[in-house]
Order: sequence, then C-alpha cells, then structure tokens
Amino acid sequence: MPDSLLIVGSVAYDNVETPGGRVENALGGSALFGAAAASLFAPVHLVGIVGTDFDRAGIAFLEERGVDLEGLETAEGNTFRWTGVYEEDMNNRRTLATELNVFANFAPRIPDRYRRDRIVFLGNIAPRLQLHVLDQMAGPEWVALDTMDMWIRDAADDLACVLKRVHMVVINDSEARALTGKTNLAVAARSILDMGPRAVIVKKGEHGVLLAVGDEFAVLPALPLETVVDPTGAGDSFAGGMLGYIAATGDVTVSGLRRALAYGTAAASLAVEDYSFNRLRGARREALDERYRWLRSISFLPDPHDQEHQNA
Ligand code: AMP
Repeated sequence: MPDSLLIVGSVAYDNVETPGGRVENALGGSALFGAAAASLFAPVHLVGIVGTDFDRAGIAFLEERGVDLEGLETAEGNTFRWTGVYEEDMNNRRTLATELNVFANFAPRIPDRYRRDRIVFLGNIAPRLQLHVLDQMAGPEWVALDTMDMWIRDAADDLACVLKRVHMVVINDSEARALTGKTNLAVAARSILDMGPRAVIVKKGEHGVLLAVGDEFAVLPALPLETVVDPTGAGDSFAGGMLGYIAATGDVTVSGLRRALAYGTAAASLAVEDYSFNRLRGARREALDERYRWLRSISFLPDPHDQEHQNA
C-alpha cells in the first residue's frame, strides 16, 4: 500500500494568455496541479482554501482518483485568482494580477487523519505557513518545498528556518540564483544543500532539471515536445508526479530519486500539452510509464568503449 502524500498549496482560478490563445477562470494553483499529477501514483491528502465561488464539480475527478479533500477549506469570499501572460518562447511569463482573496487569510489546518503522513509537498505559500504545517505534523520522513522570488526577497528569515526542516527543495533556476547569489547552477544547488535539505532540484523549464544530492549530481532533459499549449503548472505537476512516485515506492536513495525525477518530468510533459490540467485529468499511469520510457531512450548515453571496440 503506498503512503499517502500530503499536499499543501494554492487552489486557484487562473487567467492565462499564451501566444496561441487564452483561458479564463481555469482551475489551477500548486495544490491542484500537484494533486492531479500525484494521484496517478498514490493517495493524496489535500490542504488548501477556496472561496464560496468555487465550483467543486471541477475537481470531482480528483476525488474519483482517491484525493481526500477534507483539508480543502471553504471560506467566505472569492477563490485566489492569478493572471499571467507568456512570451513568445513560453519560457518567460509575467504575472499581470494576483488577487489573494480568501488565500490572504489562509492558515493551513491539518486534519488529524493527515498528521502522520510521511511524505509532504509544501507548495509555494508563505514560508511562515510552511512552518505552521510542519509544526502540526508527526515527524514526516520526506518533506519537499517549493518557493518563489517574492518569499526569497520578503521572507528570507522564515525561509531559512523552513529550509532547515525540509529534505528536498524544488526551485527554478532564477529562484536558485536569487536565493544563493550564485550564477552557476551547480554552485547554487550546492549552496542550497548547505542551508539544510538533503536534495535540491533546480528546474530549468524546457531545458530540464538538475538534481544535487549529497556529493552527487544528476541531470535530466525535458521531453522534446512539439506542441506546448500552456506551461502553467508544469513545476507543480513535476513536483506532484515526483512526490507521488516517492510516496508509492518509499525510495529516496539516489537511484529512487532519479526515477522520481523522470516521473515528475513525465507528468509535467503531460500538463503543458493543454490548458489547466485538462490533459492530466484524463491521463492514466500508463501514459507516464510510456513517457518514462521515451525519456530513458533519449537520455541514454552509450558506453564510449563500445564505439572504440567497433572501430578496432
Ligand atoms: P507553476 O507554473 O507550476 O509555477 O504554477 C502555476 C500556478 O501557481 C498557477 O496555477 C497559479 O494559480 C499559482 N500561483 C501563481 N502565483 C501564486 C502565488 N503567489 N501563490 C500561490 N500560488 C500561485
């Protein structure tokens, strides 16, 4: 039986404009993207907040997949709304509006049933709230944290505290540079390890990911997709897929983490092929296994000696 994965993060209605089109009031947020990916591997306990305008019918598929929504609180007011626009190459996006609404008063309360969860994903929320979540947990074995430039800039002390209490950091390249002041990503990843966690994953958008764990590094490309519709949620689907796999296997050895990284990459590749989690909604575990095999085939490096022997 896989472990349950606790996911705490934002639940949002997103307005997204890409070079190819736009959507309004699309379901999003780190907790929902994370759960849409993770639930393909393991039972998920979700903690977040929505307003009275939120239509739960949109996430009925999560419940069908075994996502427990007892921790999804409803408060008077509107759900968090995010509006963003992507540039032509889709690697850069600008936030046009962030309406916190009920998210402004979010104080995550972890239901008793979730407190013994061994694997935890702290999505991108204030580090103070991430600490508050950890204070309610009974010694989880593997906690992964996401953060963003705003917290690195405005909540550095809280972030330093929470970094000491997590096992893994999942962060994008510009955030890794902002957090450490190092331009070189290998150096930046190592200096994040010095802040506390056992593993760091630096996400580089369409250029893949870098894992630093102990003295080791691993790199993985992103899949060379020819159709990318909307990158929103790629990072959270990556984290959800990766942690769902860790919850399913309990394997946090370096090779277990490398496999988890590949499943995260597979989940993110599905997420970006449509708006919101439209693609992940109908996906099955087999689709991720297929992408895993594709990733493996494009990442495989033959032994250089094989060639030498052939030429001899
Ligand atoms: P990602 O593309 O994986 O980085 O995550 C995109 C999601 O993050 C969107 O669905 C947004 O609703 C959500 N989001 C954007 N800004 C924030 C914020 N300040 N706090 C929490 N979630 C956010």
